[in-house]
Amino acid sequence: MLLTSLADRIASLPKAELHLHLEGSIQPATVCALTARHGVVMTEGEVCQRYAYRGFPEFIEAFKWVTSFLRDPQDYALIARDLAEHLLTQRVAYSEVTLSIGVMILRKQRVEANFEALLRATEPFESRGLRFRWVFDAAEFRPIYDRAAQIGLHRLMHAGEVGGPEKIREAIELLGAERIGHGIAAIHDPALMDFLAERKIPLEVCPGSNMKTAALARQLRREDVRIEDHPLPKLLRHGIPIVLSTDDPAMFHTTLQEEYANAARMGLQEHELTRIVDMGFEHAFPPCGETHRA
Ligand SMILES: [Zn+2]
Repeated sequence: MLLTSLADRIASLPKAELHLHLEGSIQPATVCALTARHGVVMTEGEVCQRYAYRGFPEFIEAFKWVTSFLRDPQDYALIARDLAEHLLTQRVAYSEVTLSIGVMILRKQRVEANFEALLRATEPFESRGLRFRWVFDAAEFRPIYDRAAQIGLHRLMHAGEVGGPEKIREAIELLGAERIGHGIAAIHDPALMDFLAERKIPLEVCPGSNMKTAALARQLRREDVRIEDHPLPKLLRHGIPIVLSTDDPAMFHTTLQEEYANAARMGLQEHELTRIVDMGFEHAFPPCGETHRA
């Protein structure tokens, strides 16, 4: 029997990817196809330059630029197929993908038409072992979350990425968030860490993103941070559920396999990495038992 490396063993496991933005997942070659559809010819090199940035404000600029080419339902179908093919290379079996509905509304598009195109584009991937669920972003606005709870929708929220631990508490206590996007600021508040562990509220941790947006540097209050300084091991070993994710993989030049490699660089052992793989399925909305380690 061949001995495979740890990376190969983790790579071979079916995984769930729960914190992923569709608009941040458009690979450079697909960006070229997308801009060409709207009369703008670009090389992959030029797109990569647009995707090279330091810090959060420049990332937001790049995000606005690429989404300016998402103009009709076919554009959404194109990028959804591209994402699905990419996820299959990562052995992702289940994915919850966040859609920036706000961007569609801002650009006066028909949200329903875009969403239908997404469903049609991704449905054929079910037979190839990849299931999608969709997350609609909502403003940090309490009535929306209350309404979502009333009609039985799950609630999740970005908090404690660049903000402090109090933002995580607010998301849970005021908005009823059941999962927290990022949440790395929890390391500053031991009582909050206890609370997250007791209530089993998962943090969707995206280490590559935290490096690229400088969120990690901000949380650790120094500039020269390395991936090994990430608090993921501390949070995990405190008993807080962790789901490992890529956030905006194309724009942050990462993949889910690479994030597992990052977690290994932080010193996580194989049993901890496989535990994280399992938690991706355990904390999915809704529970997807039939795809679990299929
Ligand atoms: Zn995010």
